[in-house]
Amino acid sequence: MSTQITGTLVWYYAICPREAWLMAHELEPERNFDLLAEGRLNQEAHYKRATKELSLPGMRLDGVRREGDRLIVSEVKKSSRFLPATRLQLGYYLWRLDKEGMEAAGEILIPKERKREVVELTPELKGQVEGIMEEIEALVAQPAPPPTVKIPFCKNCAYAEFCWS
Ligand code: SF4
Repeated sequence: MSTQITGTLVWYYAICPREAWLMAHELEPERNFDLLAEGRLNQEAHYKRATKELSLPGMRLDGVRREGDRLIVSEVKKSSRFLPATRLQLGYYLWRLDKEGMEAAGEILIPKERKREVVELTPELKGQVEGIMEEIEALVAQPAPPPTVKIPFCKNCAYAEFCWS
């Protein structure tokens, strides 16, 4: 089975592999309870009129603009709690754009905290993204999800009832 890897799946995987498995197998969570959905609402409130949204297969970029010869792609989050996962998500987008021959850099925007972090596709990040993609492929090929592991994210996760009831 070939997995349709998306930036969102990378983000989930970095937080909870079990959630990534459930998402990849199309067990859709209730989006009203999902942190990502909260992030989207946050994004819409702050950035809808300020940025253009670009959708490509597996990529839903919150904002795209051109700076000189390269693209700057933005990912908007509600808080900096999951920054490592967001760096990987953006890294995935930059990796995809690189494959298409497009020079790009990323930025993580956290309006509530007035934060902006620049993300470049360094060789290290590229290696991490390629590694994580292999891991996701192997995970999703498994017939069952990994066991539940209690993490702080669980209390905001749409699968909480599924995992813990
Ligand atoms: S409830 Fe916890 S263990 Fe279950 S998918 Fe969500 S984050 Fe993972």
